[in-house]
Amino acid sequence: MFEDVIKFIRNDFEIPDKQIQLHAPIFVGNEKKYVLEAIDSTFVSSVGKFVDKFENDIRDYTGAKHAIAAVNGTAALHVALQLAGVGAGDLVITQPLTFIATCNAIKYTQASPVFIDIDKDTLGLSPNSLEKFLKNEADIKNGKLIHKATGKKIAACVPMHTFGHPVHLDELLNVCKQYNLPIVEDSAESLGSFYKGQHTGTMGLLGAFSFNGNKTITCGGGGVVVTNDSELARLTKHLTTQAKKPHPWNFDHDHIGYNYRMPNINAALGCAQLEMLDTYLESKRQLAGRYKSFFEKQGITFVGEPENCRSNFWLNAILLKDQKERDAFLVETNQQKIMTRPAWTLMNKLDMFSQDIAGDLTNAIFIEERLVNIPSSPRVLIR
Ligand SMILES: *Cc1c(COP(=O)(O)O)cnc(C)c1O
Repeated sequence: MFEDVIKFIRNDFEIPDKQIQLHAPIFVGNEKKYVLEAIDSTFVSSVGKFVDKFENDIRDYTGAKHAIAAVNGTAALHVALQLAGVGAGDLVITQPLTFIATCNAIKYTQASPVFIDIDKDTLGLSPNSLEKFLKNEADIKNGKLIHKATGKKIAACVPMHTFGHPVHLDELLNVCKQYNLPIVEDSAESLGSFYKGQHTGTMGLLGAFSFNGNKTITCGGGGVVVTNDSELARLTKHLTTQAKKPHPWNFDHDHIGYNYRMPNINAALGCAQLEMLDTYLESKRQLAGRYKSFFEKQGITFVGEPENCRSNFWLNAILLKDQKERDAFLVETNQQKIMTRPAWTLMNKLDMFSQDIAGDLTNAIFIEERLVNIPSSPRVLIR
């Protein structure tokens, strides 16, 4: 049924009969050179010049005032949530369509997620749905946003820029401002994605990025917290460094901290990958363009970038007619060694989160039933 699609993807990736991955990293820049340099320097752990360089480079690229490297994106998100004021017993707004790390990070702070629907054009948290929810179900009491039915504090809002497509940030910022709700952007998937010219992750109070092996660029494993608030930046570095008070020789700590710093050897890989980012983004944009015109001719919806946005097209996605057609597509492509996969199971359906509060999730359910991610690896050759 999908022979044309299979032929198109095989031809486009120029991989005649082998497995085609969903997203494979490529190392054709200075990766080996920098990693060897880190080894030769003996600074392979959480102190070293590549960590500093990586933080500076991310800061410059995103335009954030501060960037603090972390051991992975989940850890970055955990610390960002804690510093946004999320604590035990609180509620945190997020979307049901996300990778589980978003909800795990919320639970690490001993808070619980509240699932609000997504918009169909961004696949991310819907400002309209959020506004409706807060209007009906929350009150501001003594400056705190309280969920009426449970009496719990709603402490933060965590939108996720799904597959690199920015959410409607202006509208979301507006709603959250109205309700005194800090935003922590889960920008794990959106390095290289811009909303009205501004980099994702830099518009909320804090943002978290991931540099896992399957992301647009990788450190092997890694994360970064960005913020424009210098005190939050200082505290992020402090908490991720076991809350050790800076001193040349004394070991003195003033908090329960975490061992969440990024090792220099991973930062070395990341610095080399960052040098390639623009090339990868251009390659991914070209691929998205070819996919778009091909799938349009097939009568299949290709998920494009939202208005006023520049997406990184981390993972390309299509929408099939219904769940049955989606499943047929998944079977046929995977049988032909083309890796495709459905959307993540909606978070509210998982045992661990099934007792948590959820609004109306019509759009998320619609998308979950139809969406398939298709091969999206960057390539160096640009045609
Ligand atoms: C990848 C990802 C993370 C976590 O990143 P890790 O570096 O793997 O810990 C968090 N949130 C989302 C939405 C992600 O896709």
